[in-house]
Amino acid sequence: MRYFFSDQQLSHQPKQYMVHGRIVDPFENPNRAPKLMAALEKAGLQRNTPKDYGRAPILKVHADHYVNFLEQAYAEFQKLPNAGPEVLPNVHPFRGASDDFADRGPPRVTGIIGRAGWYMGDMSCATMAGTFAAAYASAQTAIAGAKDLLSGARASFALCRPPGHHAYRDRCSGFCYFNNAAIAAEAMLGTFKRVAILDFDTHHGDGTQAIFYRRSDVLYGSVHTDPSAYYPHFAGYADETGAGPGEGANLNLPLAFGANDADFIAANQLLRDAAVAASVDALILSAGWDAHRDDPLSKLDVSTDAYARIGELYGKLRLPTLIVQEGGYSLSAVEAASHAFMTGFRSTHA
Ligand SMILES: [Zn+2]
Repeated sequence: MRYFFSDQQLSHQPKQYMVHGRIVDPFENPNRAPKLMAALEKAGLQRNTPKDYGRAPILKVHADHYVNFLEQAYAEFQKLPNAGPEVLPNVHPFRGASDDFADRGPPRVTGIIGRAGWYMGDMSCATMAGTFAAAYASAQTAIAGAKDLLSGARASFALCRPPGHHAYRDRCSGFCYFNNAAIAAEAMLGTFKRVAILDFDTHHGDGTQAIFYRRSDVLYGSVHTDPSAYYPHFAGYADETGAGPGEGANLNLPLAFGANDADFIAANQLLRDAAVAASVDALILSAGWDAHRDDPLSKLDVSTDAYARIGELYGKLRLPTLIVQEGGYSLSAVEAASHAFMTGFRSTHA
């Protein structure tokens, strides 16, 4: 089994992230990558560098004006008087979470401050000189994993960093710029008729949900911490079940603060059952390790062993499976949980 990663993904090295009204060092940093690589190699995976598949696969998910913004924002922002080291928004348009399910079109504003507010959903996506290249390379890693399945591999791991599941069609947020799992799903559809994206990161994948909310060809299922007092706050509730042709193809399983291994494993079992009931012929797992009790963002009580159990559970489906890296911010828990998961997965998927 292969995993994909490009050193270009390390060029995103932001220095600013706002937590509880203070600017601190971002949790999402390049040091996560070597920990993940070590864990995957210990589980027997071999590293491959992704090819450059160009922009077309990204533009199946993201608006071209958004991609252009990400590419140009840093240089434009630097022309502001006394500009800070990274692009950060300080204004936001009024809009509700439900608006995010629609195509907003390009903004009327042309200035960089207004565009930063339009395209940047929160204060976690500080954009510096190397951000676009890293996010682009992370998307290419997801595409390479999808192509690996299309050329016959039964499973593949896309070590995407920066992560993707909070990225909308035209909005970055939650450390995410391009929605890597969604881009991979688009690359796989055609060959596969129906794909499930199952997301066990401790945060709801609001970007992924929004992208596929009105579609039946991609089932999105997520187990995550109850968003009523937790990121992403405005999406991830159990009554969000899809709309139009996508009605019934969105499944949210929020867990209460303090939920334990048994709760976490049972919810993952329900996601697995939903994929079986939907007769999907390929699986994408949005894999975050931040439900782990040692993670600095976790409100759950999930152990390393639970990741081995859910790895076994998803492996047993024996579907073509692409695992896409999302969150996980304790370097030791990231290494332990990803290794446990892959060992469990490979024991039943073989
Ligand atoms: Zn997360």
